[in-house]
Amino acid sequence: MKMFIGGEWKDKSEKIDVLNPFDGSVVDTVPRGDAADVDEAIAGAVRGAAIMRKIPAFDRAQMLRKAADLMLEQQEELAKIVSSEEGKILAEGRVESVRAAEIIQLSAEEAKRLRGEVLPLDGAPGSTGKFGFTIRVPCGVVAAVTPFNFPLHLVCHKVGPALAGGNAVIVKPASDTPLSALKLVEILLEAGVPPLAITCITGSGGQVGDTLCGDKRVRKISFTGSYEVGDHICRTAGMKKVTMELGSNAPLIVMDDADLQKVAEVTAMTGFSNSGQVCISTQRIYVDDKVHDEFLSELTPRVEAITTGDQLADGTKMGPMIRESDAARVHEWIGEAVNAGARLVIGGSREGSVVQPTILDEVDPKMRISCNELFGPAVGITRFTDIDAAIAQANDTDYGLSAAIFTQDLDRAMQFAQEVESGNIHINWGTQWRADLMPYGGLKDSGMGKEGPSYAVEEMTETKMVVMHLKS
Ligand code: NDP
Repeated sequence: MKMFIGGEWKDKSEKIDVLNPFDGSVVDTVPRGDAADVDEAIAGAVRGAAIMRKIPAFDRAQMLRKAADLMLEQQEELAKIVSSEEGKILAEGRVESVRAAEIIQLSAEEAKRLRGEVLPLDGAPGSTGKFGFTIRVPCGVVAAVTPFNFPLHLVCHKVGPALAGGNAVIVKPASDTPLSALKLVEILLEAGVPPLAITCITGSGGQVGDTLCGDKRVRKISFTGSYEVGDHICRTAGMKKVTMELGSNAPLIVMDDADLQKVAEVTAMTGFSNSGQVCISTQRIYVDDKVHDEFLSELTPRVEAITTGDQLADGTKMGPMIRESDAARVHEWIGEAVNAGARLVIGGSREGSVVQPTILDEVDPKMRISCNELFGPAVGITRFTDIDAAIAQANDTDYGLSAAIFTQDLDRAMQFAQEVESGNIHINWGTQWRADLMPYGGLKDSGMGKEGPSYAVEEMTETKMVVMHLKS
């Protein structure tokens, strides 16, 4: 595919191969953009922002609604693109394509809700005859930098709200998975989005990212990805608004009164879908010593039942990781934990980019598999004897994106909700759950700012205060 900059599809002789992570076959190629392309992209987007600023909310909503309809019509094609480039099983690709359309639909609704407030300025001393109100205005040019693991869904979480708020948006998709973002551009154009209002530049983050994020004409950066890249972008961004959706090593606490069958069922889903490559994937499991053995015997057969292989084949429950090097890293961390005293219950092997679903028991929280973000198909179990210790362990991390507890005790659930340092809290479900309309974002090193169209539109617009000095 070509990239879309300055309102036109543009090719280049230098290409990036987009590979199927399962077998390494080339799915397609995209141009390798460079700094000059970024400059052209931003210049086009500045003109696009001027066009978008003048488009009434009703028309912005109509465009987005039409795009959502087109996405639903083309959902099977979108699902296949997502699964082919990313490696998730087709069932997950289908869920992603439907949810992506829903985000664009939610954004259409939000386009009509940009509102300000009236301020009672006469409440300030000496302010008789003053009348004040706020108006919300677009930021202008929004840069959306996205990761590989939800190549359509997370792009929509940025593009939808940016357009709803009256901005022009420049997408820089992950180099491993740019195809679904480019397909989305085709759909947005068909839905009537002005060509200069949507840009998609392909190229390596290191080459095009700094130029894009450091440019003063970009007024807002919305980034989803690793802590390291997010931290780097914050330093290069300078004086502009920034939203950071970063990683985590999500904890799950299993109390002695939990429904262990349900915990096991949920954990087999929330720890292993997309090969564990989900920012809120369950990674650290703290289990009450009293129910440890029973929980493990419930969990093991359910994880054993996760069949692996070609993500596009019927019957596969878990596909490959994005790159063989990532699979090798996860395999290494598992081996390192076992050498340091963890017990391998199941899994632990690797073939190419596929890592077998793994359960490690007796994990020491200081092991890399626990204290760093694993981003792979393994969970580590650690015992505890009281809830205070479990909460302390859950909090003993730089991350804070999602955390979960299973208990029937309301007091324990509330203690967990209040004391655990995490942007998303789940009671009686796993860490991996999200409705696209909810405020979603992390604490601590998991980031800043919230996504979910209503919240993202807020972050992609600015408030102006208007004071009318009336005759008193
Ligand atoms: P990366 O941080 O490696 O990459 C994310 C994006 O940043 C890619 O588009 C990448 O481009 C780009 N990039 C790389 N270097 C720069 C730079 N110097 N300036 C600007 N952009 C740059 O993340 P991954 O794609 O590997 O995704 C996995 C990470 O994302 C995990 O940590 C995961 O937890 C996190 N994540 C967080 C979510 C959340 O909502 N909190 C949701 C999903 C994932 P390129 O691909 O070309 O290198």
